[in-house]
Amino acid sequence: MPELTDHLASVITDPEPTLRYDIAIIGSGMGGGTLAYALRDSGARILIVEQGDFLPREPQNWSPRAVHMENRYKNSAHWYEPNGRGFLPGNYHYVGGSTKFYGATMPRFREHDFGEVEHVDGVSPAWPLTYRDLEPHYAEFERIYRVHATLGDDPTDPWRSTDFPHPFIGHEPAIEGFAAAVRAQGLHPFGLPQAVDLGENGACVRCATCDAFPCLVDAKGDADVSAVRPALRSGNVSILTNAAVQRLETDPSGRRVVAAHARHRTGAVRIEAGRFVCSAGAVNSAALLLRSASDAHPNGLANASDQVGRNYMAHVTTFFLAADPRRRNDVVFQKTIGINDWYSAGPDTPYPLGNVQGLGKIRGPMVKNARKRIPLPVLDAVTRHTIDLFLQSEDLPLLQNRVTLGAGGRVVLARKATNLRAHRRLVERMKHVARRAGYPVVLHQELGIEASSHQCGTARMGTDPATSVVTPGLRAHDVDNLWIVDSSPFVSSAAVNPAPTVAALALRTAAAGELTA
Ligand SMILES: Cc1cc2nc3c(=O)[nH]c(=O)nc-3n(C[C@H](O)[C@H](O)[C@H](O)COP(=O)(O)OP(=O)(O)OC[C@H]3O[C@@H](n4cnc5c(N)ncnc54)[C@H](O)[C@@H]3O)c2cc1C
Repeated sequence: MPELTDHLASVITDPEPTLRYDIAIIGSGMGGGTLAYALRDSGARILIVEQGDFLPREPQNWSPRAVHMENRYKNSAHWYEPNGRGFLPGNYHYVGGSTKFYGATMPRFREHDFGEVEHVDGVSPAWPLTYRDLEPHYAEFERIYRVHATLGDDPTDPWRSTDFPHPFIGHEPAIEGFAAAVRAQGLHPFGLPQAVDLGENGACVRCATCDAFPCLVDAKGDADVSAVRPALRSGNVSILTNAAVQRLETDPSGRRVVAAHARHRTGAVRIEAGRFVCSAGAVNSAALLLRSASDAHPNGLANASDQVGRNYMAHVTTFFLAADPRRRNDVVFQKTIGINDWYSAGPDTPYPLGNVQGLGKIRGPMVKNARKRIPLPVLDAVTRHTIDLFLQSEDLPLLQNRVTLGAGGRVVLARKATNLRAHRRLVERMKHVARRAGYPVVLHQELGIEASSHQCGTARMGTDPATSVVTPGLRAHDVDNLWIVDSSPFVSSAAVNPAPTVAALALRTAAAGELTA
């Protein structure tokens, strides 16, 4: 068993003004962290440059009030809509990135998600790679992040070369009862794949503070615990924390990045490397490329195609609370149920509607900021009776949904959600299902631009440099030693959670060997 502090020898806290490495990875989340893990024994000297710090381990990690009412861990800068309205996005700067707060639900994309799919608002485009290309890397991801699920339980799951490495964690009685009532309606509820260290000698205590909380006992398979710390323990990977990269500098030809310029507590740091990887998350990677405009790249680095920042997608999402006033929902770990019966077009629906999955158990403080006028005891009382679900539909890539830079380099995000008709139909279907399952009261809230947790698409991959930013191997078309390894290269968003696909792309990039050749 590694000690809690084993990785600290590889953490740089007082950097020299200039650092030199073989590979510099900017961002330590699902993309960057997983890539560093995969390259840890490649022979390359690797530096991760991370804007945030290690998330402090403290009792507040598990406090709904501290996390959701006081926003103790929200540390992103404000982003702005084109009309100037600022908002605080669901984006986190810590070692491990947004995965420190994620729900650890780990679906693979469906096989057909990589092809063209017709939706109510248009066609979701095909990727330049197939499910078969990613399959072995999904399997490796599931081993690294300890994914628990039952083979064949989700009828829409794609084929797989290996079983899940760990068994499904099981429903608690309230969710088992709901699943049975849903099944009785002819639907096919299944056990969600979860990345938690549950089981014999596992650290997971199956608490109510997993989804949308950091894990106090490091039992959630997040990128910090599962990838970055093991990478640091190898001795070949170092991390510079509290260092926000401001821009990337190229040689005069513009074909090679020569340095990343970071702002650190101790001053400016210049990071030189043979290869650079941008893994700052879809919005911040695009912003960094745009901020790195130069004579050689006047529209932003790697942006000859004018695609950087465009095609922003984030799923169309709803929080859905179904209540039975006569009975309490005493579930602790609620995020175990999924429903994919309307994921694709079929006899029941002319176009795909999306995915339904359990949320971590909602409690009063978690909705207080959204319902400021309702007293907390009332919210507590109501949420004691609800089963809480997350409904998500595919968002389509539109050129006008984009990241640009505003005054002082701030992030401006333009977004018009797509497929709303399909999404609202999904909500109506679920209302019907919930009522027949014995939950007569349904409360639901469609989420807006602040809900950026499933952001993707801002540096799409493709074979044509005129219409894409990176190759299918994730190397920038316009820059020979720059890769983009996070959710930016997604061509479509599908309608399931993105992190496994981010990680599988990172593992595929490492396995291809281009970065270490
Ligand atoms: C509350 C919540 C719940 C979620 N639940 C799920 C789920 O159940 N399943 C799932 O699949 N996905 C889930 N997600 C989404 C998932 O976390 C993301 O898809 C995933 O983390 C994206 O990986 P990434 O590498 O693109 O970005 P991130 O993981 O966000 O990593 C980006 C990193 O780059 C760093 N960075 C940014 N800018 C700079 C800079 N200029 N210089 C240096 N460093 C920088 C950031 O600090 C961050 O560490 C959830 C997200 C949230 C917020």
